[in-house]
Amino acid sequence: EYQAISVPVTAKGHYSGCLVLFQDISKTLEGEKMQKRFIADASHELKTPIAVLKGMIEILNREDFHDEETQKEFLKQMEVEIERLDILVKDLLQLSRLSLSTLILEREKTDVKKLVEKAFSSLKKKAQDKNIVLTTDLKTDELLFCDPKKILQVLLNLLSNAIKYSDTGTITVRSYTEDAYYFIEVIDEGCGLKKEEIDKIFDRFYRVDDARSRKNGGSGLGLSIVKSIMDAHGGEISVESTYGKGSCFRLRFNN
Ligand code: ADP
Repeated sequence: EYQAISVPVTAKGHYSGCLVLFQDISKTLEGEKMQKRFIADASHELKTPIAVLKGMIEILNREDFHDEETQKEFLKQMEVEIERLDILVKDLLQLSRLSLSTLILEREKTDVKKLVEKAFSSLKKKAQDKNIVLTTDLKTDELLFCDPKKILQVLLNLLSNAIKYSDTGTITVRSYTEDAYYFIEVIDEGCGLKKEEIDKIFDRFYRVDDARSRKNGGSGLGLSIVKSIMDAHGGEISVESTYGKGSCFRLRFNN
């Protein structure tokens, strides 16, 4: 789509013609459309837990409501919904910060092994609860030139997904260098993805199995955040997955 801009041209104070510029605005329109869609999706995601909370408060407030058991159950459910809202708002804020074009990375030579250890220790409990073993296969001692806080976030998001979408099994973080690239892989033996799902999982709010993701407290934004951080690094993320067997999320950095 094009927008025409006409500029009168004057020479020595006399009108001598008109310059017409055609500007390709399809990208701008596309951007606006995506932003509108994003706001609509975000509002929908926020509205759902709010509606549940409202409904429950209404019932609890009824004068004829005295059932203590149900009251306790409702309070528990309300806590879950509040927690969901909390995660959602945090993820939304993070994503909007990441999409600012002014995003500045604080890059330094980083020991990936230390980052993996940090990520493992904060997810240890969640893994143990499902009898999941966390292991590493770090084949390079090279340091990675990256923003350590942001890459820790990437590892945390990928690892917590690997835990969420596995019933049990082993999760491995592998790193190696090849053709001047630095690779990090997060490999799980979880539920895996169907071919047609793989293209969509980086879309904001996309969830393969809504019920399972919701139960796991996912916002549907984790992988969008990962993708934004990788884009900012000039890197790439790719996925290989076998449905029912497991997935491998591969990060590629130009080191
Ligand atoms: P969520 O908060 O729902 O986990 P994400 O953006 O992190 O959102 O992931 C999007 C969807 O991709 C998830 O809902 C899930 O269906 C799928 N997914 C992500 N990681 C994995 C994985 N390791 N194994 C299988 N499916 C996954």
